[in-house]
Amino acid sequence: MVFLPSMKYVEDIDIKRLAIKLRPSGERMVKKGHPWVFEDSIVKQNIDGGAGDLAIIYDTKKNGFLACGLYDPYSPIRIKLMQFKKAAQINETWFSTKINDAFQIRKPLLETDTNSYRLLFGENDNLPGFIADVYDHVLVVKLYSHIWFPYLNWILPNLIEVSQCKTVVLRLSRLLKSKGETYGLQDGTVIYGELEDDVVIFREHGVSFSANVIKGHKTGYFLDHRHNRKRVGELSRGKSVLDVFSYAGGFSVHALKGGAKEVISLDISKHALAMAKENTKLNNHDGKHQIIVADAFEGLQKLIDEQKRFDIVVIDPPSFAKRENEVSRAKKSYAKLARLGARLVSSNGVLILASCSSRVVAEDFFEISEENILDSGSVFEVLEKTYHDIDHPVNFPEGAYLKCGYYKLS
Ligand code: SAH
Repeated sequence: MVFLPSMKYVEDIDIKRLAIKLRPSGERMVKKGHPWVFEDSIVKQNIDGGAGDLAIIYDTKKNGFLACGLYDPYSPIRIKLMQFKKAAQINETWFSTKINDAFQIRKPLLETDTNSYRLLFGENDNLPGFIADVYDHVLVVKLYSHIWFPYLNWILPNLIEVSQCKTVVLRLSRLLKSKGETYGLQDGTVIYGELEDDVVIFREHGVSFSANVIKGHKTGYFLDHRHNRKRVGELSRGKSVLDVFSYAGGFSVHALKGGAKEVISLDISKHALAMAKENTKLNNHDGKHQIIVADAFEGLQKLIDEQKRFDIVVIDPPSFAKRENEVSRAKKSYAKLARLGARLVSSNGVLILASCSSRVVAEDFFEISEENILDSGSVFEVLEKTYHDIDHPVNFPEGAYLKCGYYKLS
């Protein structure tokens, strides 16, 4: 292991090895390569487990190795699996291989004018609950599980080497802030190098943005829609654009840079809209930019009442279904947004509807969107349907969350 002088190393944490057997249903999922083992599917466990202990799953009948992962006492997803079918030593080399594999997948993106990307996407890169986003020379690691503390000393130097980042910021999920040991590390700890400014400037397909890596949502910005924002930029020349749930203006700024004549960013958060304003200033453009602070449903209705129309309307709401019992309400919200959005699109304009709820699958989301566009009295042509960009690979069903439909309305 290379010693990095400006790294805050985590104290040594003892790791136990647990032998686990599962109920047939759990075993079937593991055999399919699913990374989650729920607490109620464990039928045999040799000793008590602590956060990050190595959990090895054995076949109930033949006793052979099925998979191994890390034990999480704080989550109903009790074991997060990382290695399937063939036994392997989970050591620094193992992590280094996974990180290099992940980097290889992202490489084509770095040949574009982009220096911001998701280097590790949790389960989908075999590191469950571990997110690593790069913004220029700043790497933001966000942990969603306590299992990672014993392994940070191995993982971080490898991430730094691959990404060539000069600074690493650690972000902790709400669960980690409220429960369990975090070894003196806090949400926002600069764990390697120095952070000159909480706000980091980076590029996304030739467009400049800034993100507050200490206080911003998730790791500071939503990298996942990059390909859709680029597309909106390409569609925007000379157009009027409404960007609903704009956050820091991802779609708005690409539209302006792409030559939109006017853009409205609508969000409930004043703070997000202030960031959107700042982000427009980082780029040369001739278009007019306006903000509306409002609840989206009310704001859209008001624009309809004022008989406003736009050439392009983008609606990219937050996840409406964080829990299973929220799914039917989420579907109703998607329906309502499609109806409201369709009424604001001018003839031959484009309505772009996105969803980031993994519990509402793509097929259902598109069906709801299309039924409701028709209900609002418009006829549509599907221009495109998009899913994940290459830095958000999908390795298991729940990993697929992003979908986006482009509808030309008449
Ligand atoms: N489109 C953005 C990401 C959207 S994130 C991008 O490309 O980066 C979701 C945004 O929805 C957040 O900024 C949040 O403030 C906003 N939001 C949440 N509930 C809202 C509501 N009821 N009305 C309007 N905005 C809302």
